Amino acid sequence: MSKGSVFIISGPSGSGKDTLLGELFKKYPEILFSISSVTRNMREGEKEGEKYNFITREKFESMIKEDKLLEYNLYVDNYYGTPREPVEKAVSENKDIFIEVDVNGAKSIREKLPEAISIFVMPPSFEELKRRLSSRGTETEEVVNLRMAAALGEIKRAQEYDYIVVNDDLSTAVEDIIAIMKGSKFSLKKQNYIINEVLKNVKS
Ligand code: 5GP
Repeated sequence: MSKGSVFIISGPSGSGKDTLLGELFKKYPEILFSISSVTRNMREGEKEGEKYNFITREKFESMIKEDKLLEYNLYVDNYYGTPREPVEKAVSENKDIFIEVDVNGAKSIREKLPEAISIFVMPPSFEELKRRLSSRGTETEEVVNLRMAAALGEIKRAQEYDYIVVNDDLSTAVEDIIAIMKGSKFSLKKQNYIINEVLKNVKS
């Protein structure tokens, strides 16, 4: 049986990673998604428990104290965190799970789960990212500017990832993610254990 994988996916706000993941999950509904806890306000069109659990800062801080988060980060003045239990359950049941986090969250998860495969979703250009963010109309100009600044810092750290997918054409980008999922099953990160298994009865 092929082992399940933890896929870390990041990309700046406006890279289109949510739409990309939405399309992926439509094609493969069996893939799990880690629902983050967040202290920011719900945006129009968002639903509680779909991508996020929207909680108070007090509740978030008590989750930190109780060690219920695999990682967390402060992003543009709000806390975002990955609840530990669903990820550990997916790993123990050998299921594929996607964790969407910012670059700092990705770093923390890589440290805790070195087998995790990381993917960075890149906008085709910085100008296009700016256009997408401003036309969204769900945030104030101040927040858009803060997100642009965060995006610049994130793109500079894309080299920390195993894979980079440019999201220019949506369906091509979805196919690219599927190719990564298939290919990564054969990577040394995932298959290292086989070497010992094959050699287990060989006396050297
Ligand atoms: P947004 O407010 O646009 O939904 O998300 C802002 C940023 O937070 C994005 O880069 C997103 O990937 C990241 N993010 C979402 N969930 C988590 C999480 O659980 N942990 C961390 N560290 N970042 C997250």
